[in-house]
Amino acid sequence: MAKGIPELYGSLVFNDKVMRDKLPKDIYKALRKTIENGTHLELDVANSVAVAMKEWAVENGATHFTHWFQPMTGFTAEKHDSFISPVGDGQIIMDFSGKELVKGEPDASSFPSGGLRATFEARGYTAWDPTSPAFIKDGTLYIPTAFCSYSGEALDKKTPLLRSMETLSREATKILHLLGQKDVTGVSTTIGPEQEYFLIDKELYEQRKDLIFTGRTLLGAMPPKGQEMEDHYFGALKPRVAAYMHDLDVELWKLGIPAKTKHNEVAPAQHELAPIFDTANIAVDHNQLTMEIMKKVADKHGMVCLLHEKPFDGINGSGKHNNWSMITNTGVNLLDPGRTPAENIQFLIFLMAVIKAVDEYADLMRLSVATPGNDHRLGANEAPPAVVSIFLGDELTAVLDSIENDTFFGKQQRIQMETGATVLPHFFKDNTDRNRTSPFAFTGNKFEFRMLGSSLSVAGPNIVLNTAVAEALSQFYDELKDTPADKMGEAVHELVKRAILKHKKIIFNGNGYTDEWIAEAERRGLYNLKSTPEALPCFIAPKNIKLFTEHKIYTESEIYSRYEILLENYCKTLHIEARTMQDMIRRDFLPALMEYTDEVACSISDKKAVADLPCKAETKLVIKLGGYYDAIYEAEEKLEADTKTAEGIADMLEAATYYHETILADMAALRSTADAAEEYIPDDILPYPNYEALLFSL
Ligand code: ADP
Ligand code: MG
Repeated sequence: MAKGIPELYGSLVFNDKVMRDKLPKDIYKALRKTIENGTHLELDVANSVAVAMKEWAVENGATHFTHWFQPMTGFTAEKHDSFISPVGDGQIIMDFSGKELVKGEPDASSFPSGGLRATFEARGYTAWDPTSPAFIKDGTLYIPTAFCSYSGEALDKKTPLLRSMETLSREATKILHLLGQKDVTGVSTTIGPEQEYFLIDKELYEQRKDLIFTGRTLLGAMPPKGQEMEDHYFGALKPRVAAYMHDLDVELWKLGIPAKTKHNEVAPAQHELAPIFDTANIAVDHNQLTMEIMKKVADKHGMVCLLHEKPFDGINGSGKHNNWSMITNTGVNLLDPGRTPAENIQFLIFLMAVIKAVDEYADLMRLSVATPGNDHRLGANEAPPAVVSIFLGDELTAVLDSIENDTFFGKQQRIQMETGATVLPHFFKDNTDRNRTSPFAFTGNKFEFRMLGSSLSVAGPNIVLNTAVAEALSQFYDELKDTPADKMGEAVHELVKRAILKHKKIIFNGNGYTDEWIAEAERRGLYNLKSTPEALPCFIAPKNIKLFTEHKIYTESEIYSRYEILLENYCKTLHIEARTMQDMIRRDFLPALMEYTDEVACSISDKKAVADLPCKAETKLVIKLGGYYDAIYEAEEKLEADTKTAEGIADMLEAATYYHETILADMAALRSTADAAEEYIPDDILPYPNYEALLFSL
């Protein structure tokens, strides 16, 4: 690395500094105005920006450009065009126009649209999102864009995210003006997504059809050692992993992605990366890029990065923590309680809005993280439960209690940390401890939504959060708007009091992993949507359609289309898993089991031929292996037959429910017998690497 990190950082990004250097002053100003205030961009400005962008890109080795968008597949999409433009007599120039910058026309017919777009209207449009900077990757200039249909319906995850950010900004600004903060002209949402992942050896990966086709292991007995010693979390990095993490940081930094923290996670072979937070849509783009680059860098190091939520049974899966807050254009974090939260009415209003939002739209929050992969985590003893609740911590809970009961909130003493060793530095404890079991926890000056699966685009959960909080703020505004300024403190106090009484059922500071909490949550009337098929129908519940359509985040047809896409994705994923498992059992596992049984049986007849030995142990083993063979064969037949039944179910919700209830149960039954048999099969006969090799070989 010749360059220092500060020079390297963002060197492949068309960032503010490059814009200022490359653009004429008036053009730069116009572009900044669009980025900061969301004003419309004129074509002459776009033309000028395009010229500068192309010059910069070509200087940095780019030959192509692409509109980069986030269709409903959950991945990003791109179509590369070169800058070359013929000028006659076999010559070319490198050319790029404002029109090419602002608008693209990819064929939309092969992206999921949930019936939104008839194939005769295959045209789709991508539109430049100037609020997320363009960048260069692998010799191509990437232009972040939104993707919609010919008739303007969103076909992607970015368009509704941008809509929700605008809505939240508008509603938050209205409240702030009411509270006298007239200098605020906009509020952004900020996200810091912590990303978990697994690294395994590529050669081993390539021998497992389940990992290749489904991203997770469908079979595999636990090795003698799993994660029970808890020796991996924050453990020293192994050399191969350390080298990977270093390269990953460098690649991310070049793209202006502020990767900050890296460490080993709880499970063997599991790790985490956290960036410094950014504005929501930039953070979403960066998280998509991070996932992609994690995979790419792993490949260079002879490894595979697994982003599936549950690659291995019996050890922790991977999630993504969505740290979220709101910040004014004047730089104030609206969820910062300050030193005296009880007197900070601005903080109390925004805090209460989040509590109200999460309570009223807990079903949508749950829905926003519902994927087949994440179903294996939520509710298992590692991730938050499927019940959405809020952890506030002792101090804020006491503040709200005092408001609810009209009692005086005495300022809490900050407690000095006592380590018992005088050489250690003295510092104050934080006033919220970390409750790791809560799905939605207040962590000092932000909320951390912990239910996201590791492979999920963070757009969806933030669309829900932004919209629900905007709705709460808009209701608060209506309650407060006629209050004279000198009565505002009192009015906010009363409003917060009413709201706590109504919404305190969502607050829970205890251990979210216990059965007692699940029972208590049911008494409180909270949702417990255990699986994706249970969660999805709430998307089309009248109250939720009302929320999204009133705030113009989704039209009703956009909602239905997304609902359909999610259902279809669920069914397809399980269908692939079921078929992969059948293939592995029939063509790999059973033949191996047969081979070993034959080997033992031959040994018996050999021994009997030589000398009439009793072969008691071998006989027992053959009987055992034969028993497994029969049981696995039968379980596989059932899975096969039920998969056929599933294929025949026309109604999508019915099919999804069947996959969840029947196919998953079949797969679990088949797996448990196969895993039991695996413990008897020698490594050299097992047709693919086992858990021990996968988890402990790096
Ligand atoms: P922990 O693992 O203890 O939760 P980390 O430091 O790993 O903490 O991650 C915290 C994340 O929260 C980081 O990505 C950080 O940038 C982000 N964060 C901090 N402040 C904010 C904020 N105001 N808005 C959004 N994210 C934030
Ligand atoms: Mg965290």
